[in-house]
Amino acid sequence: MNTSEIINQLGEDRELYFGAMTPPIVQTSNFKFKDIEAMRYALQNEFHEHAYTRGNNPTVEILRKKLAALEGAEDALVLGSGVSAISVAVLSAVKAGDHVICVDHVYSWTDHLFKKFLPQYGVTTTFVDGKDIRNFEDAIQSNTVLIFLESPNTMLFEVQDLEAISTLAKAHNITTIVENTYCTPLYQQPLTLGIDIVVHTATKYLSGHSDVVAGVICGSSERIARIFAHEFLTLGTIISPNDAWLFTRGLRTLEIRMERITSSVEKVIKYLEQHPAIAQVIYPFSPSNPQLSLVKKQMKAMGGLFSIILKTTNI
Ligand SMILES: *Cc1c(COP(=O)(O)O)cnc(C)c1O
Repeated sequence: MNTSEIINQLGEDRELYFGAMTPPIVQTSNFKFKDIEAMRYALQNEFHEHAYTRGNNPTVEILRKKLAALEGAEDALVLGSGVSAISVAVLSAVKAGDHVICVDHVYSWTDHLFKKFLPQYGVTTTFVDGKDIRNFEDAIQSNTVLIFLESPNTMLFEVQDLEAISTLAKAHNITTIVENTYCTPLYQQPLTLGIDIVVHTATKYLSGHSDVVAGVICGSSERIARIFAHEFLTLGTIISPNDAWLFTRGLRTLEIRMERITSSVEKVIKYLEQHPAIAQVIYPFSPSNPQLSLVKKQMKAMGGLFSIILKTTNI
C-alpha cells in the first residue's frame, strides 16, 4: 500500500458513518452492549473491541492502523504525548534490578526518565557515545535488557548504526527501542533494520499543525498487545478522541509537509553556512559529517532540524 493510500484511506470504513469523508469523533467514554455476553467478550478483547475509551476508541483506532502501516509495523498505540510513548515503551521492557544502555544526547525528558525516574525503581542506565558500536558492546552487563536509541540524536544529530546495534542486541536477548521523531516513518524505518520498538513524538511532524500533543509506539502485534494489556491500560495516558481526529487530519498532509520541510531546510542551511557569524551548521546530511555514509544508508532525507555554532570572536 502506498503512503497516500495509508494516510487517506486505511482504517477508515466510510460505509459505517454515512459515507462521510472525515471520520466521526467518537466522543464517548464507554460503549453499550446488546447483552452480558457481548460485554464480557468486549472486555476480554479490549485490544480490538470497543469497551472503554482508555482502551480502544474507534477514532483513535483509525490512527493506530495508519501509523503502524507507515512504520511497517504490525500494530501501534497512540498516546497522549511523546514522552508518554517513550516512558510506556521503556517501562514495558524493564523491571527492578535491570540495566539499560542509552545513547548520549537524547531528548531532555528521556534523559530525566533514565537518570532520575527509573533509578527510583532500581533500574540503572549507562549512557554511551552512539557513534561507535564498540561502546554498546562494552556497556553490556549480565542484567542489560534494553538499548534505547535516538537517531539522529538531540542537538548533535549523531546517528547510530541501527542494523548493527539490533544484531548485537538480538545476540544478547536485549530489546531495542528507537525514537524516530526527527525522520518520521517516511525518512527512516527502524523496524526494517531489526529494531524491536519505534516511538514517536507525534506533536511534531506526524500531526504537524502545533495543535495536538501526542505520541506513538509501533512494534509487532504480540509486543503491542502486551504493552496495551499492562502499561498502556495501567498508566492510562491516552489521546482524547478529539485530539485523535485532529491528528488524523494533520497526518493527511504528512508527505507534502515533509517534502517542503526538506527543500526549505536545504535553503536555510545554505544561507547559514556562508554567513560570517556562523562557525558551523550541524545536520546529518552535512558533507563534512564523518557519519555521512551511514546517514545515507539508513535515512532517505533530511528533517527540518539543525544546530548552529556561532563565531563568538573575530566577527
Ligand atoms: C518534543 C519531543 C519530545 C517530547 O514530546 P511531547 O509530545 O512534548 O511529550 C520527545 N522527543 C523529541 C525528539 C522531541 O522533539
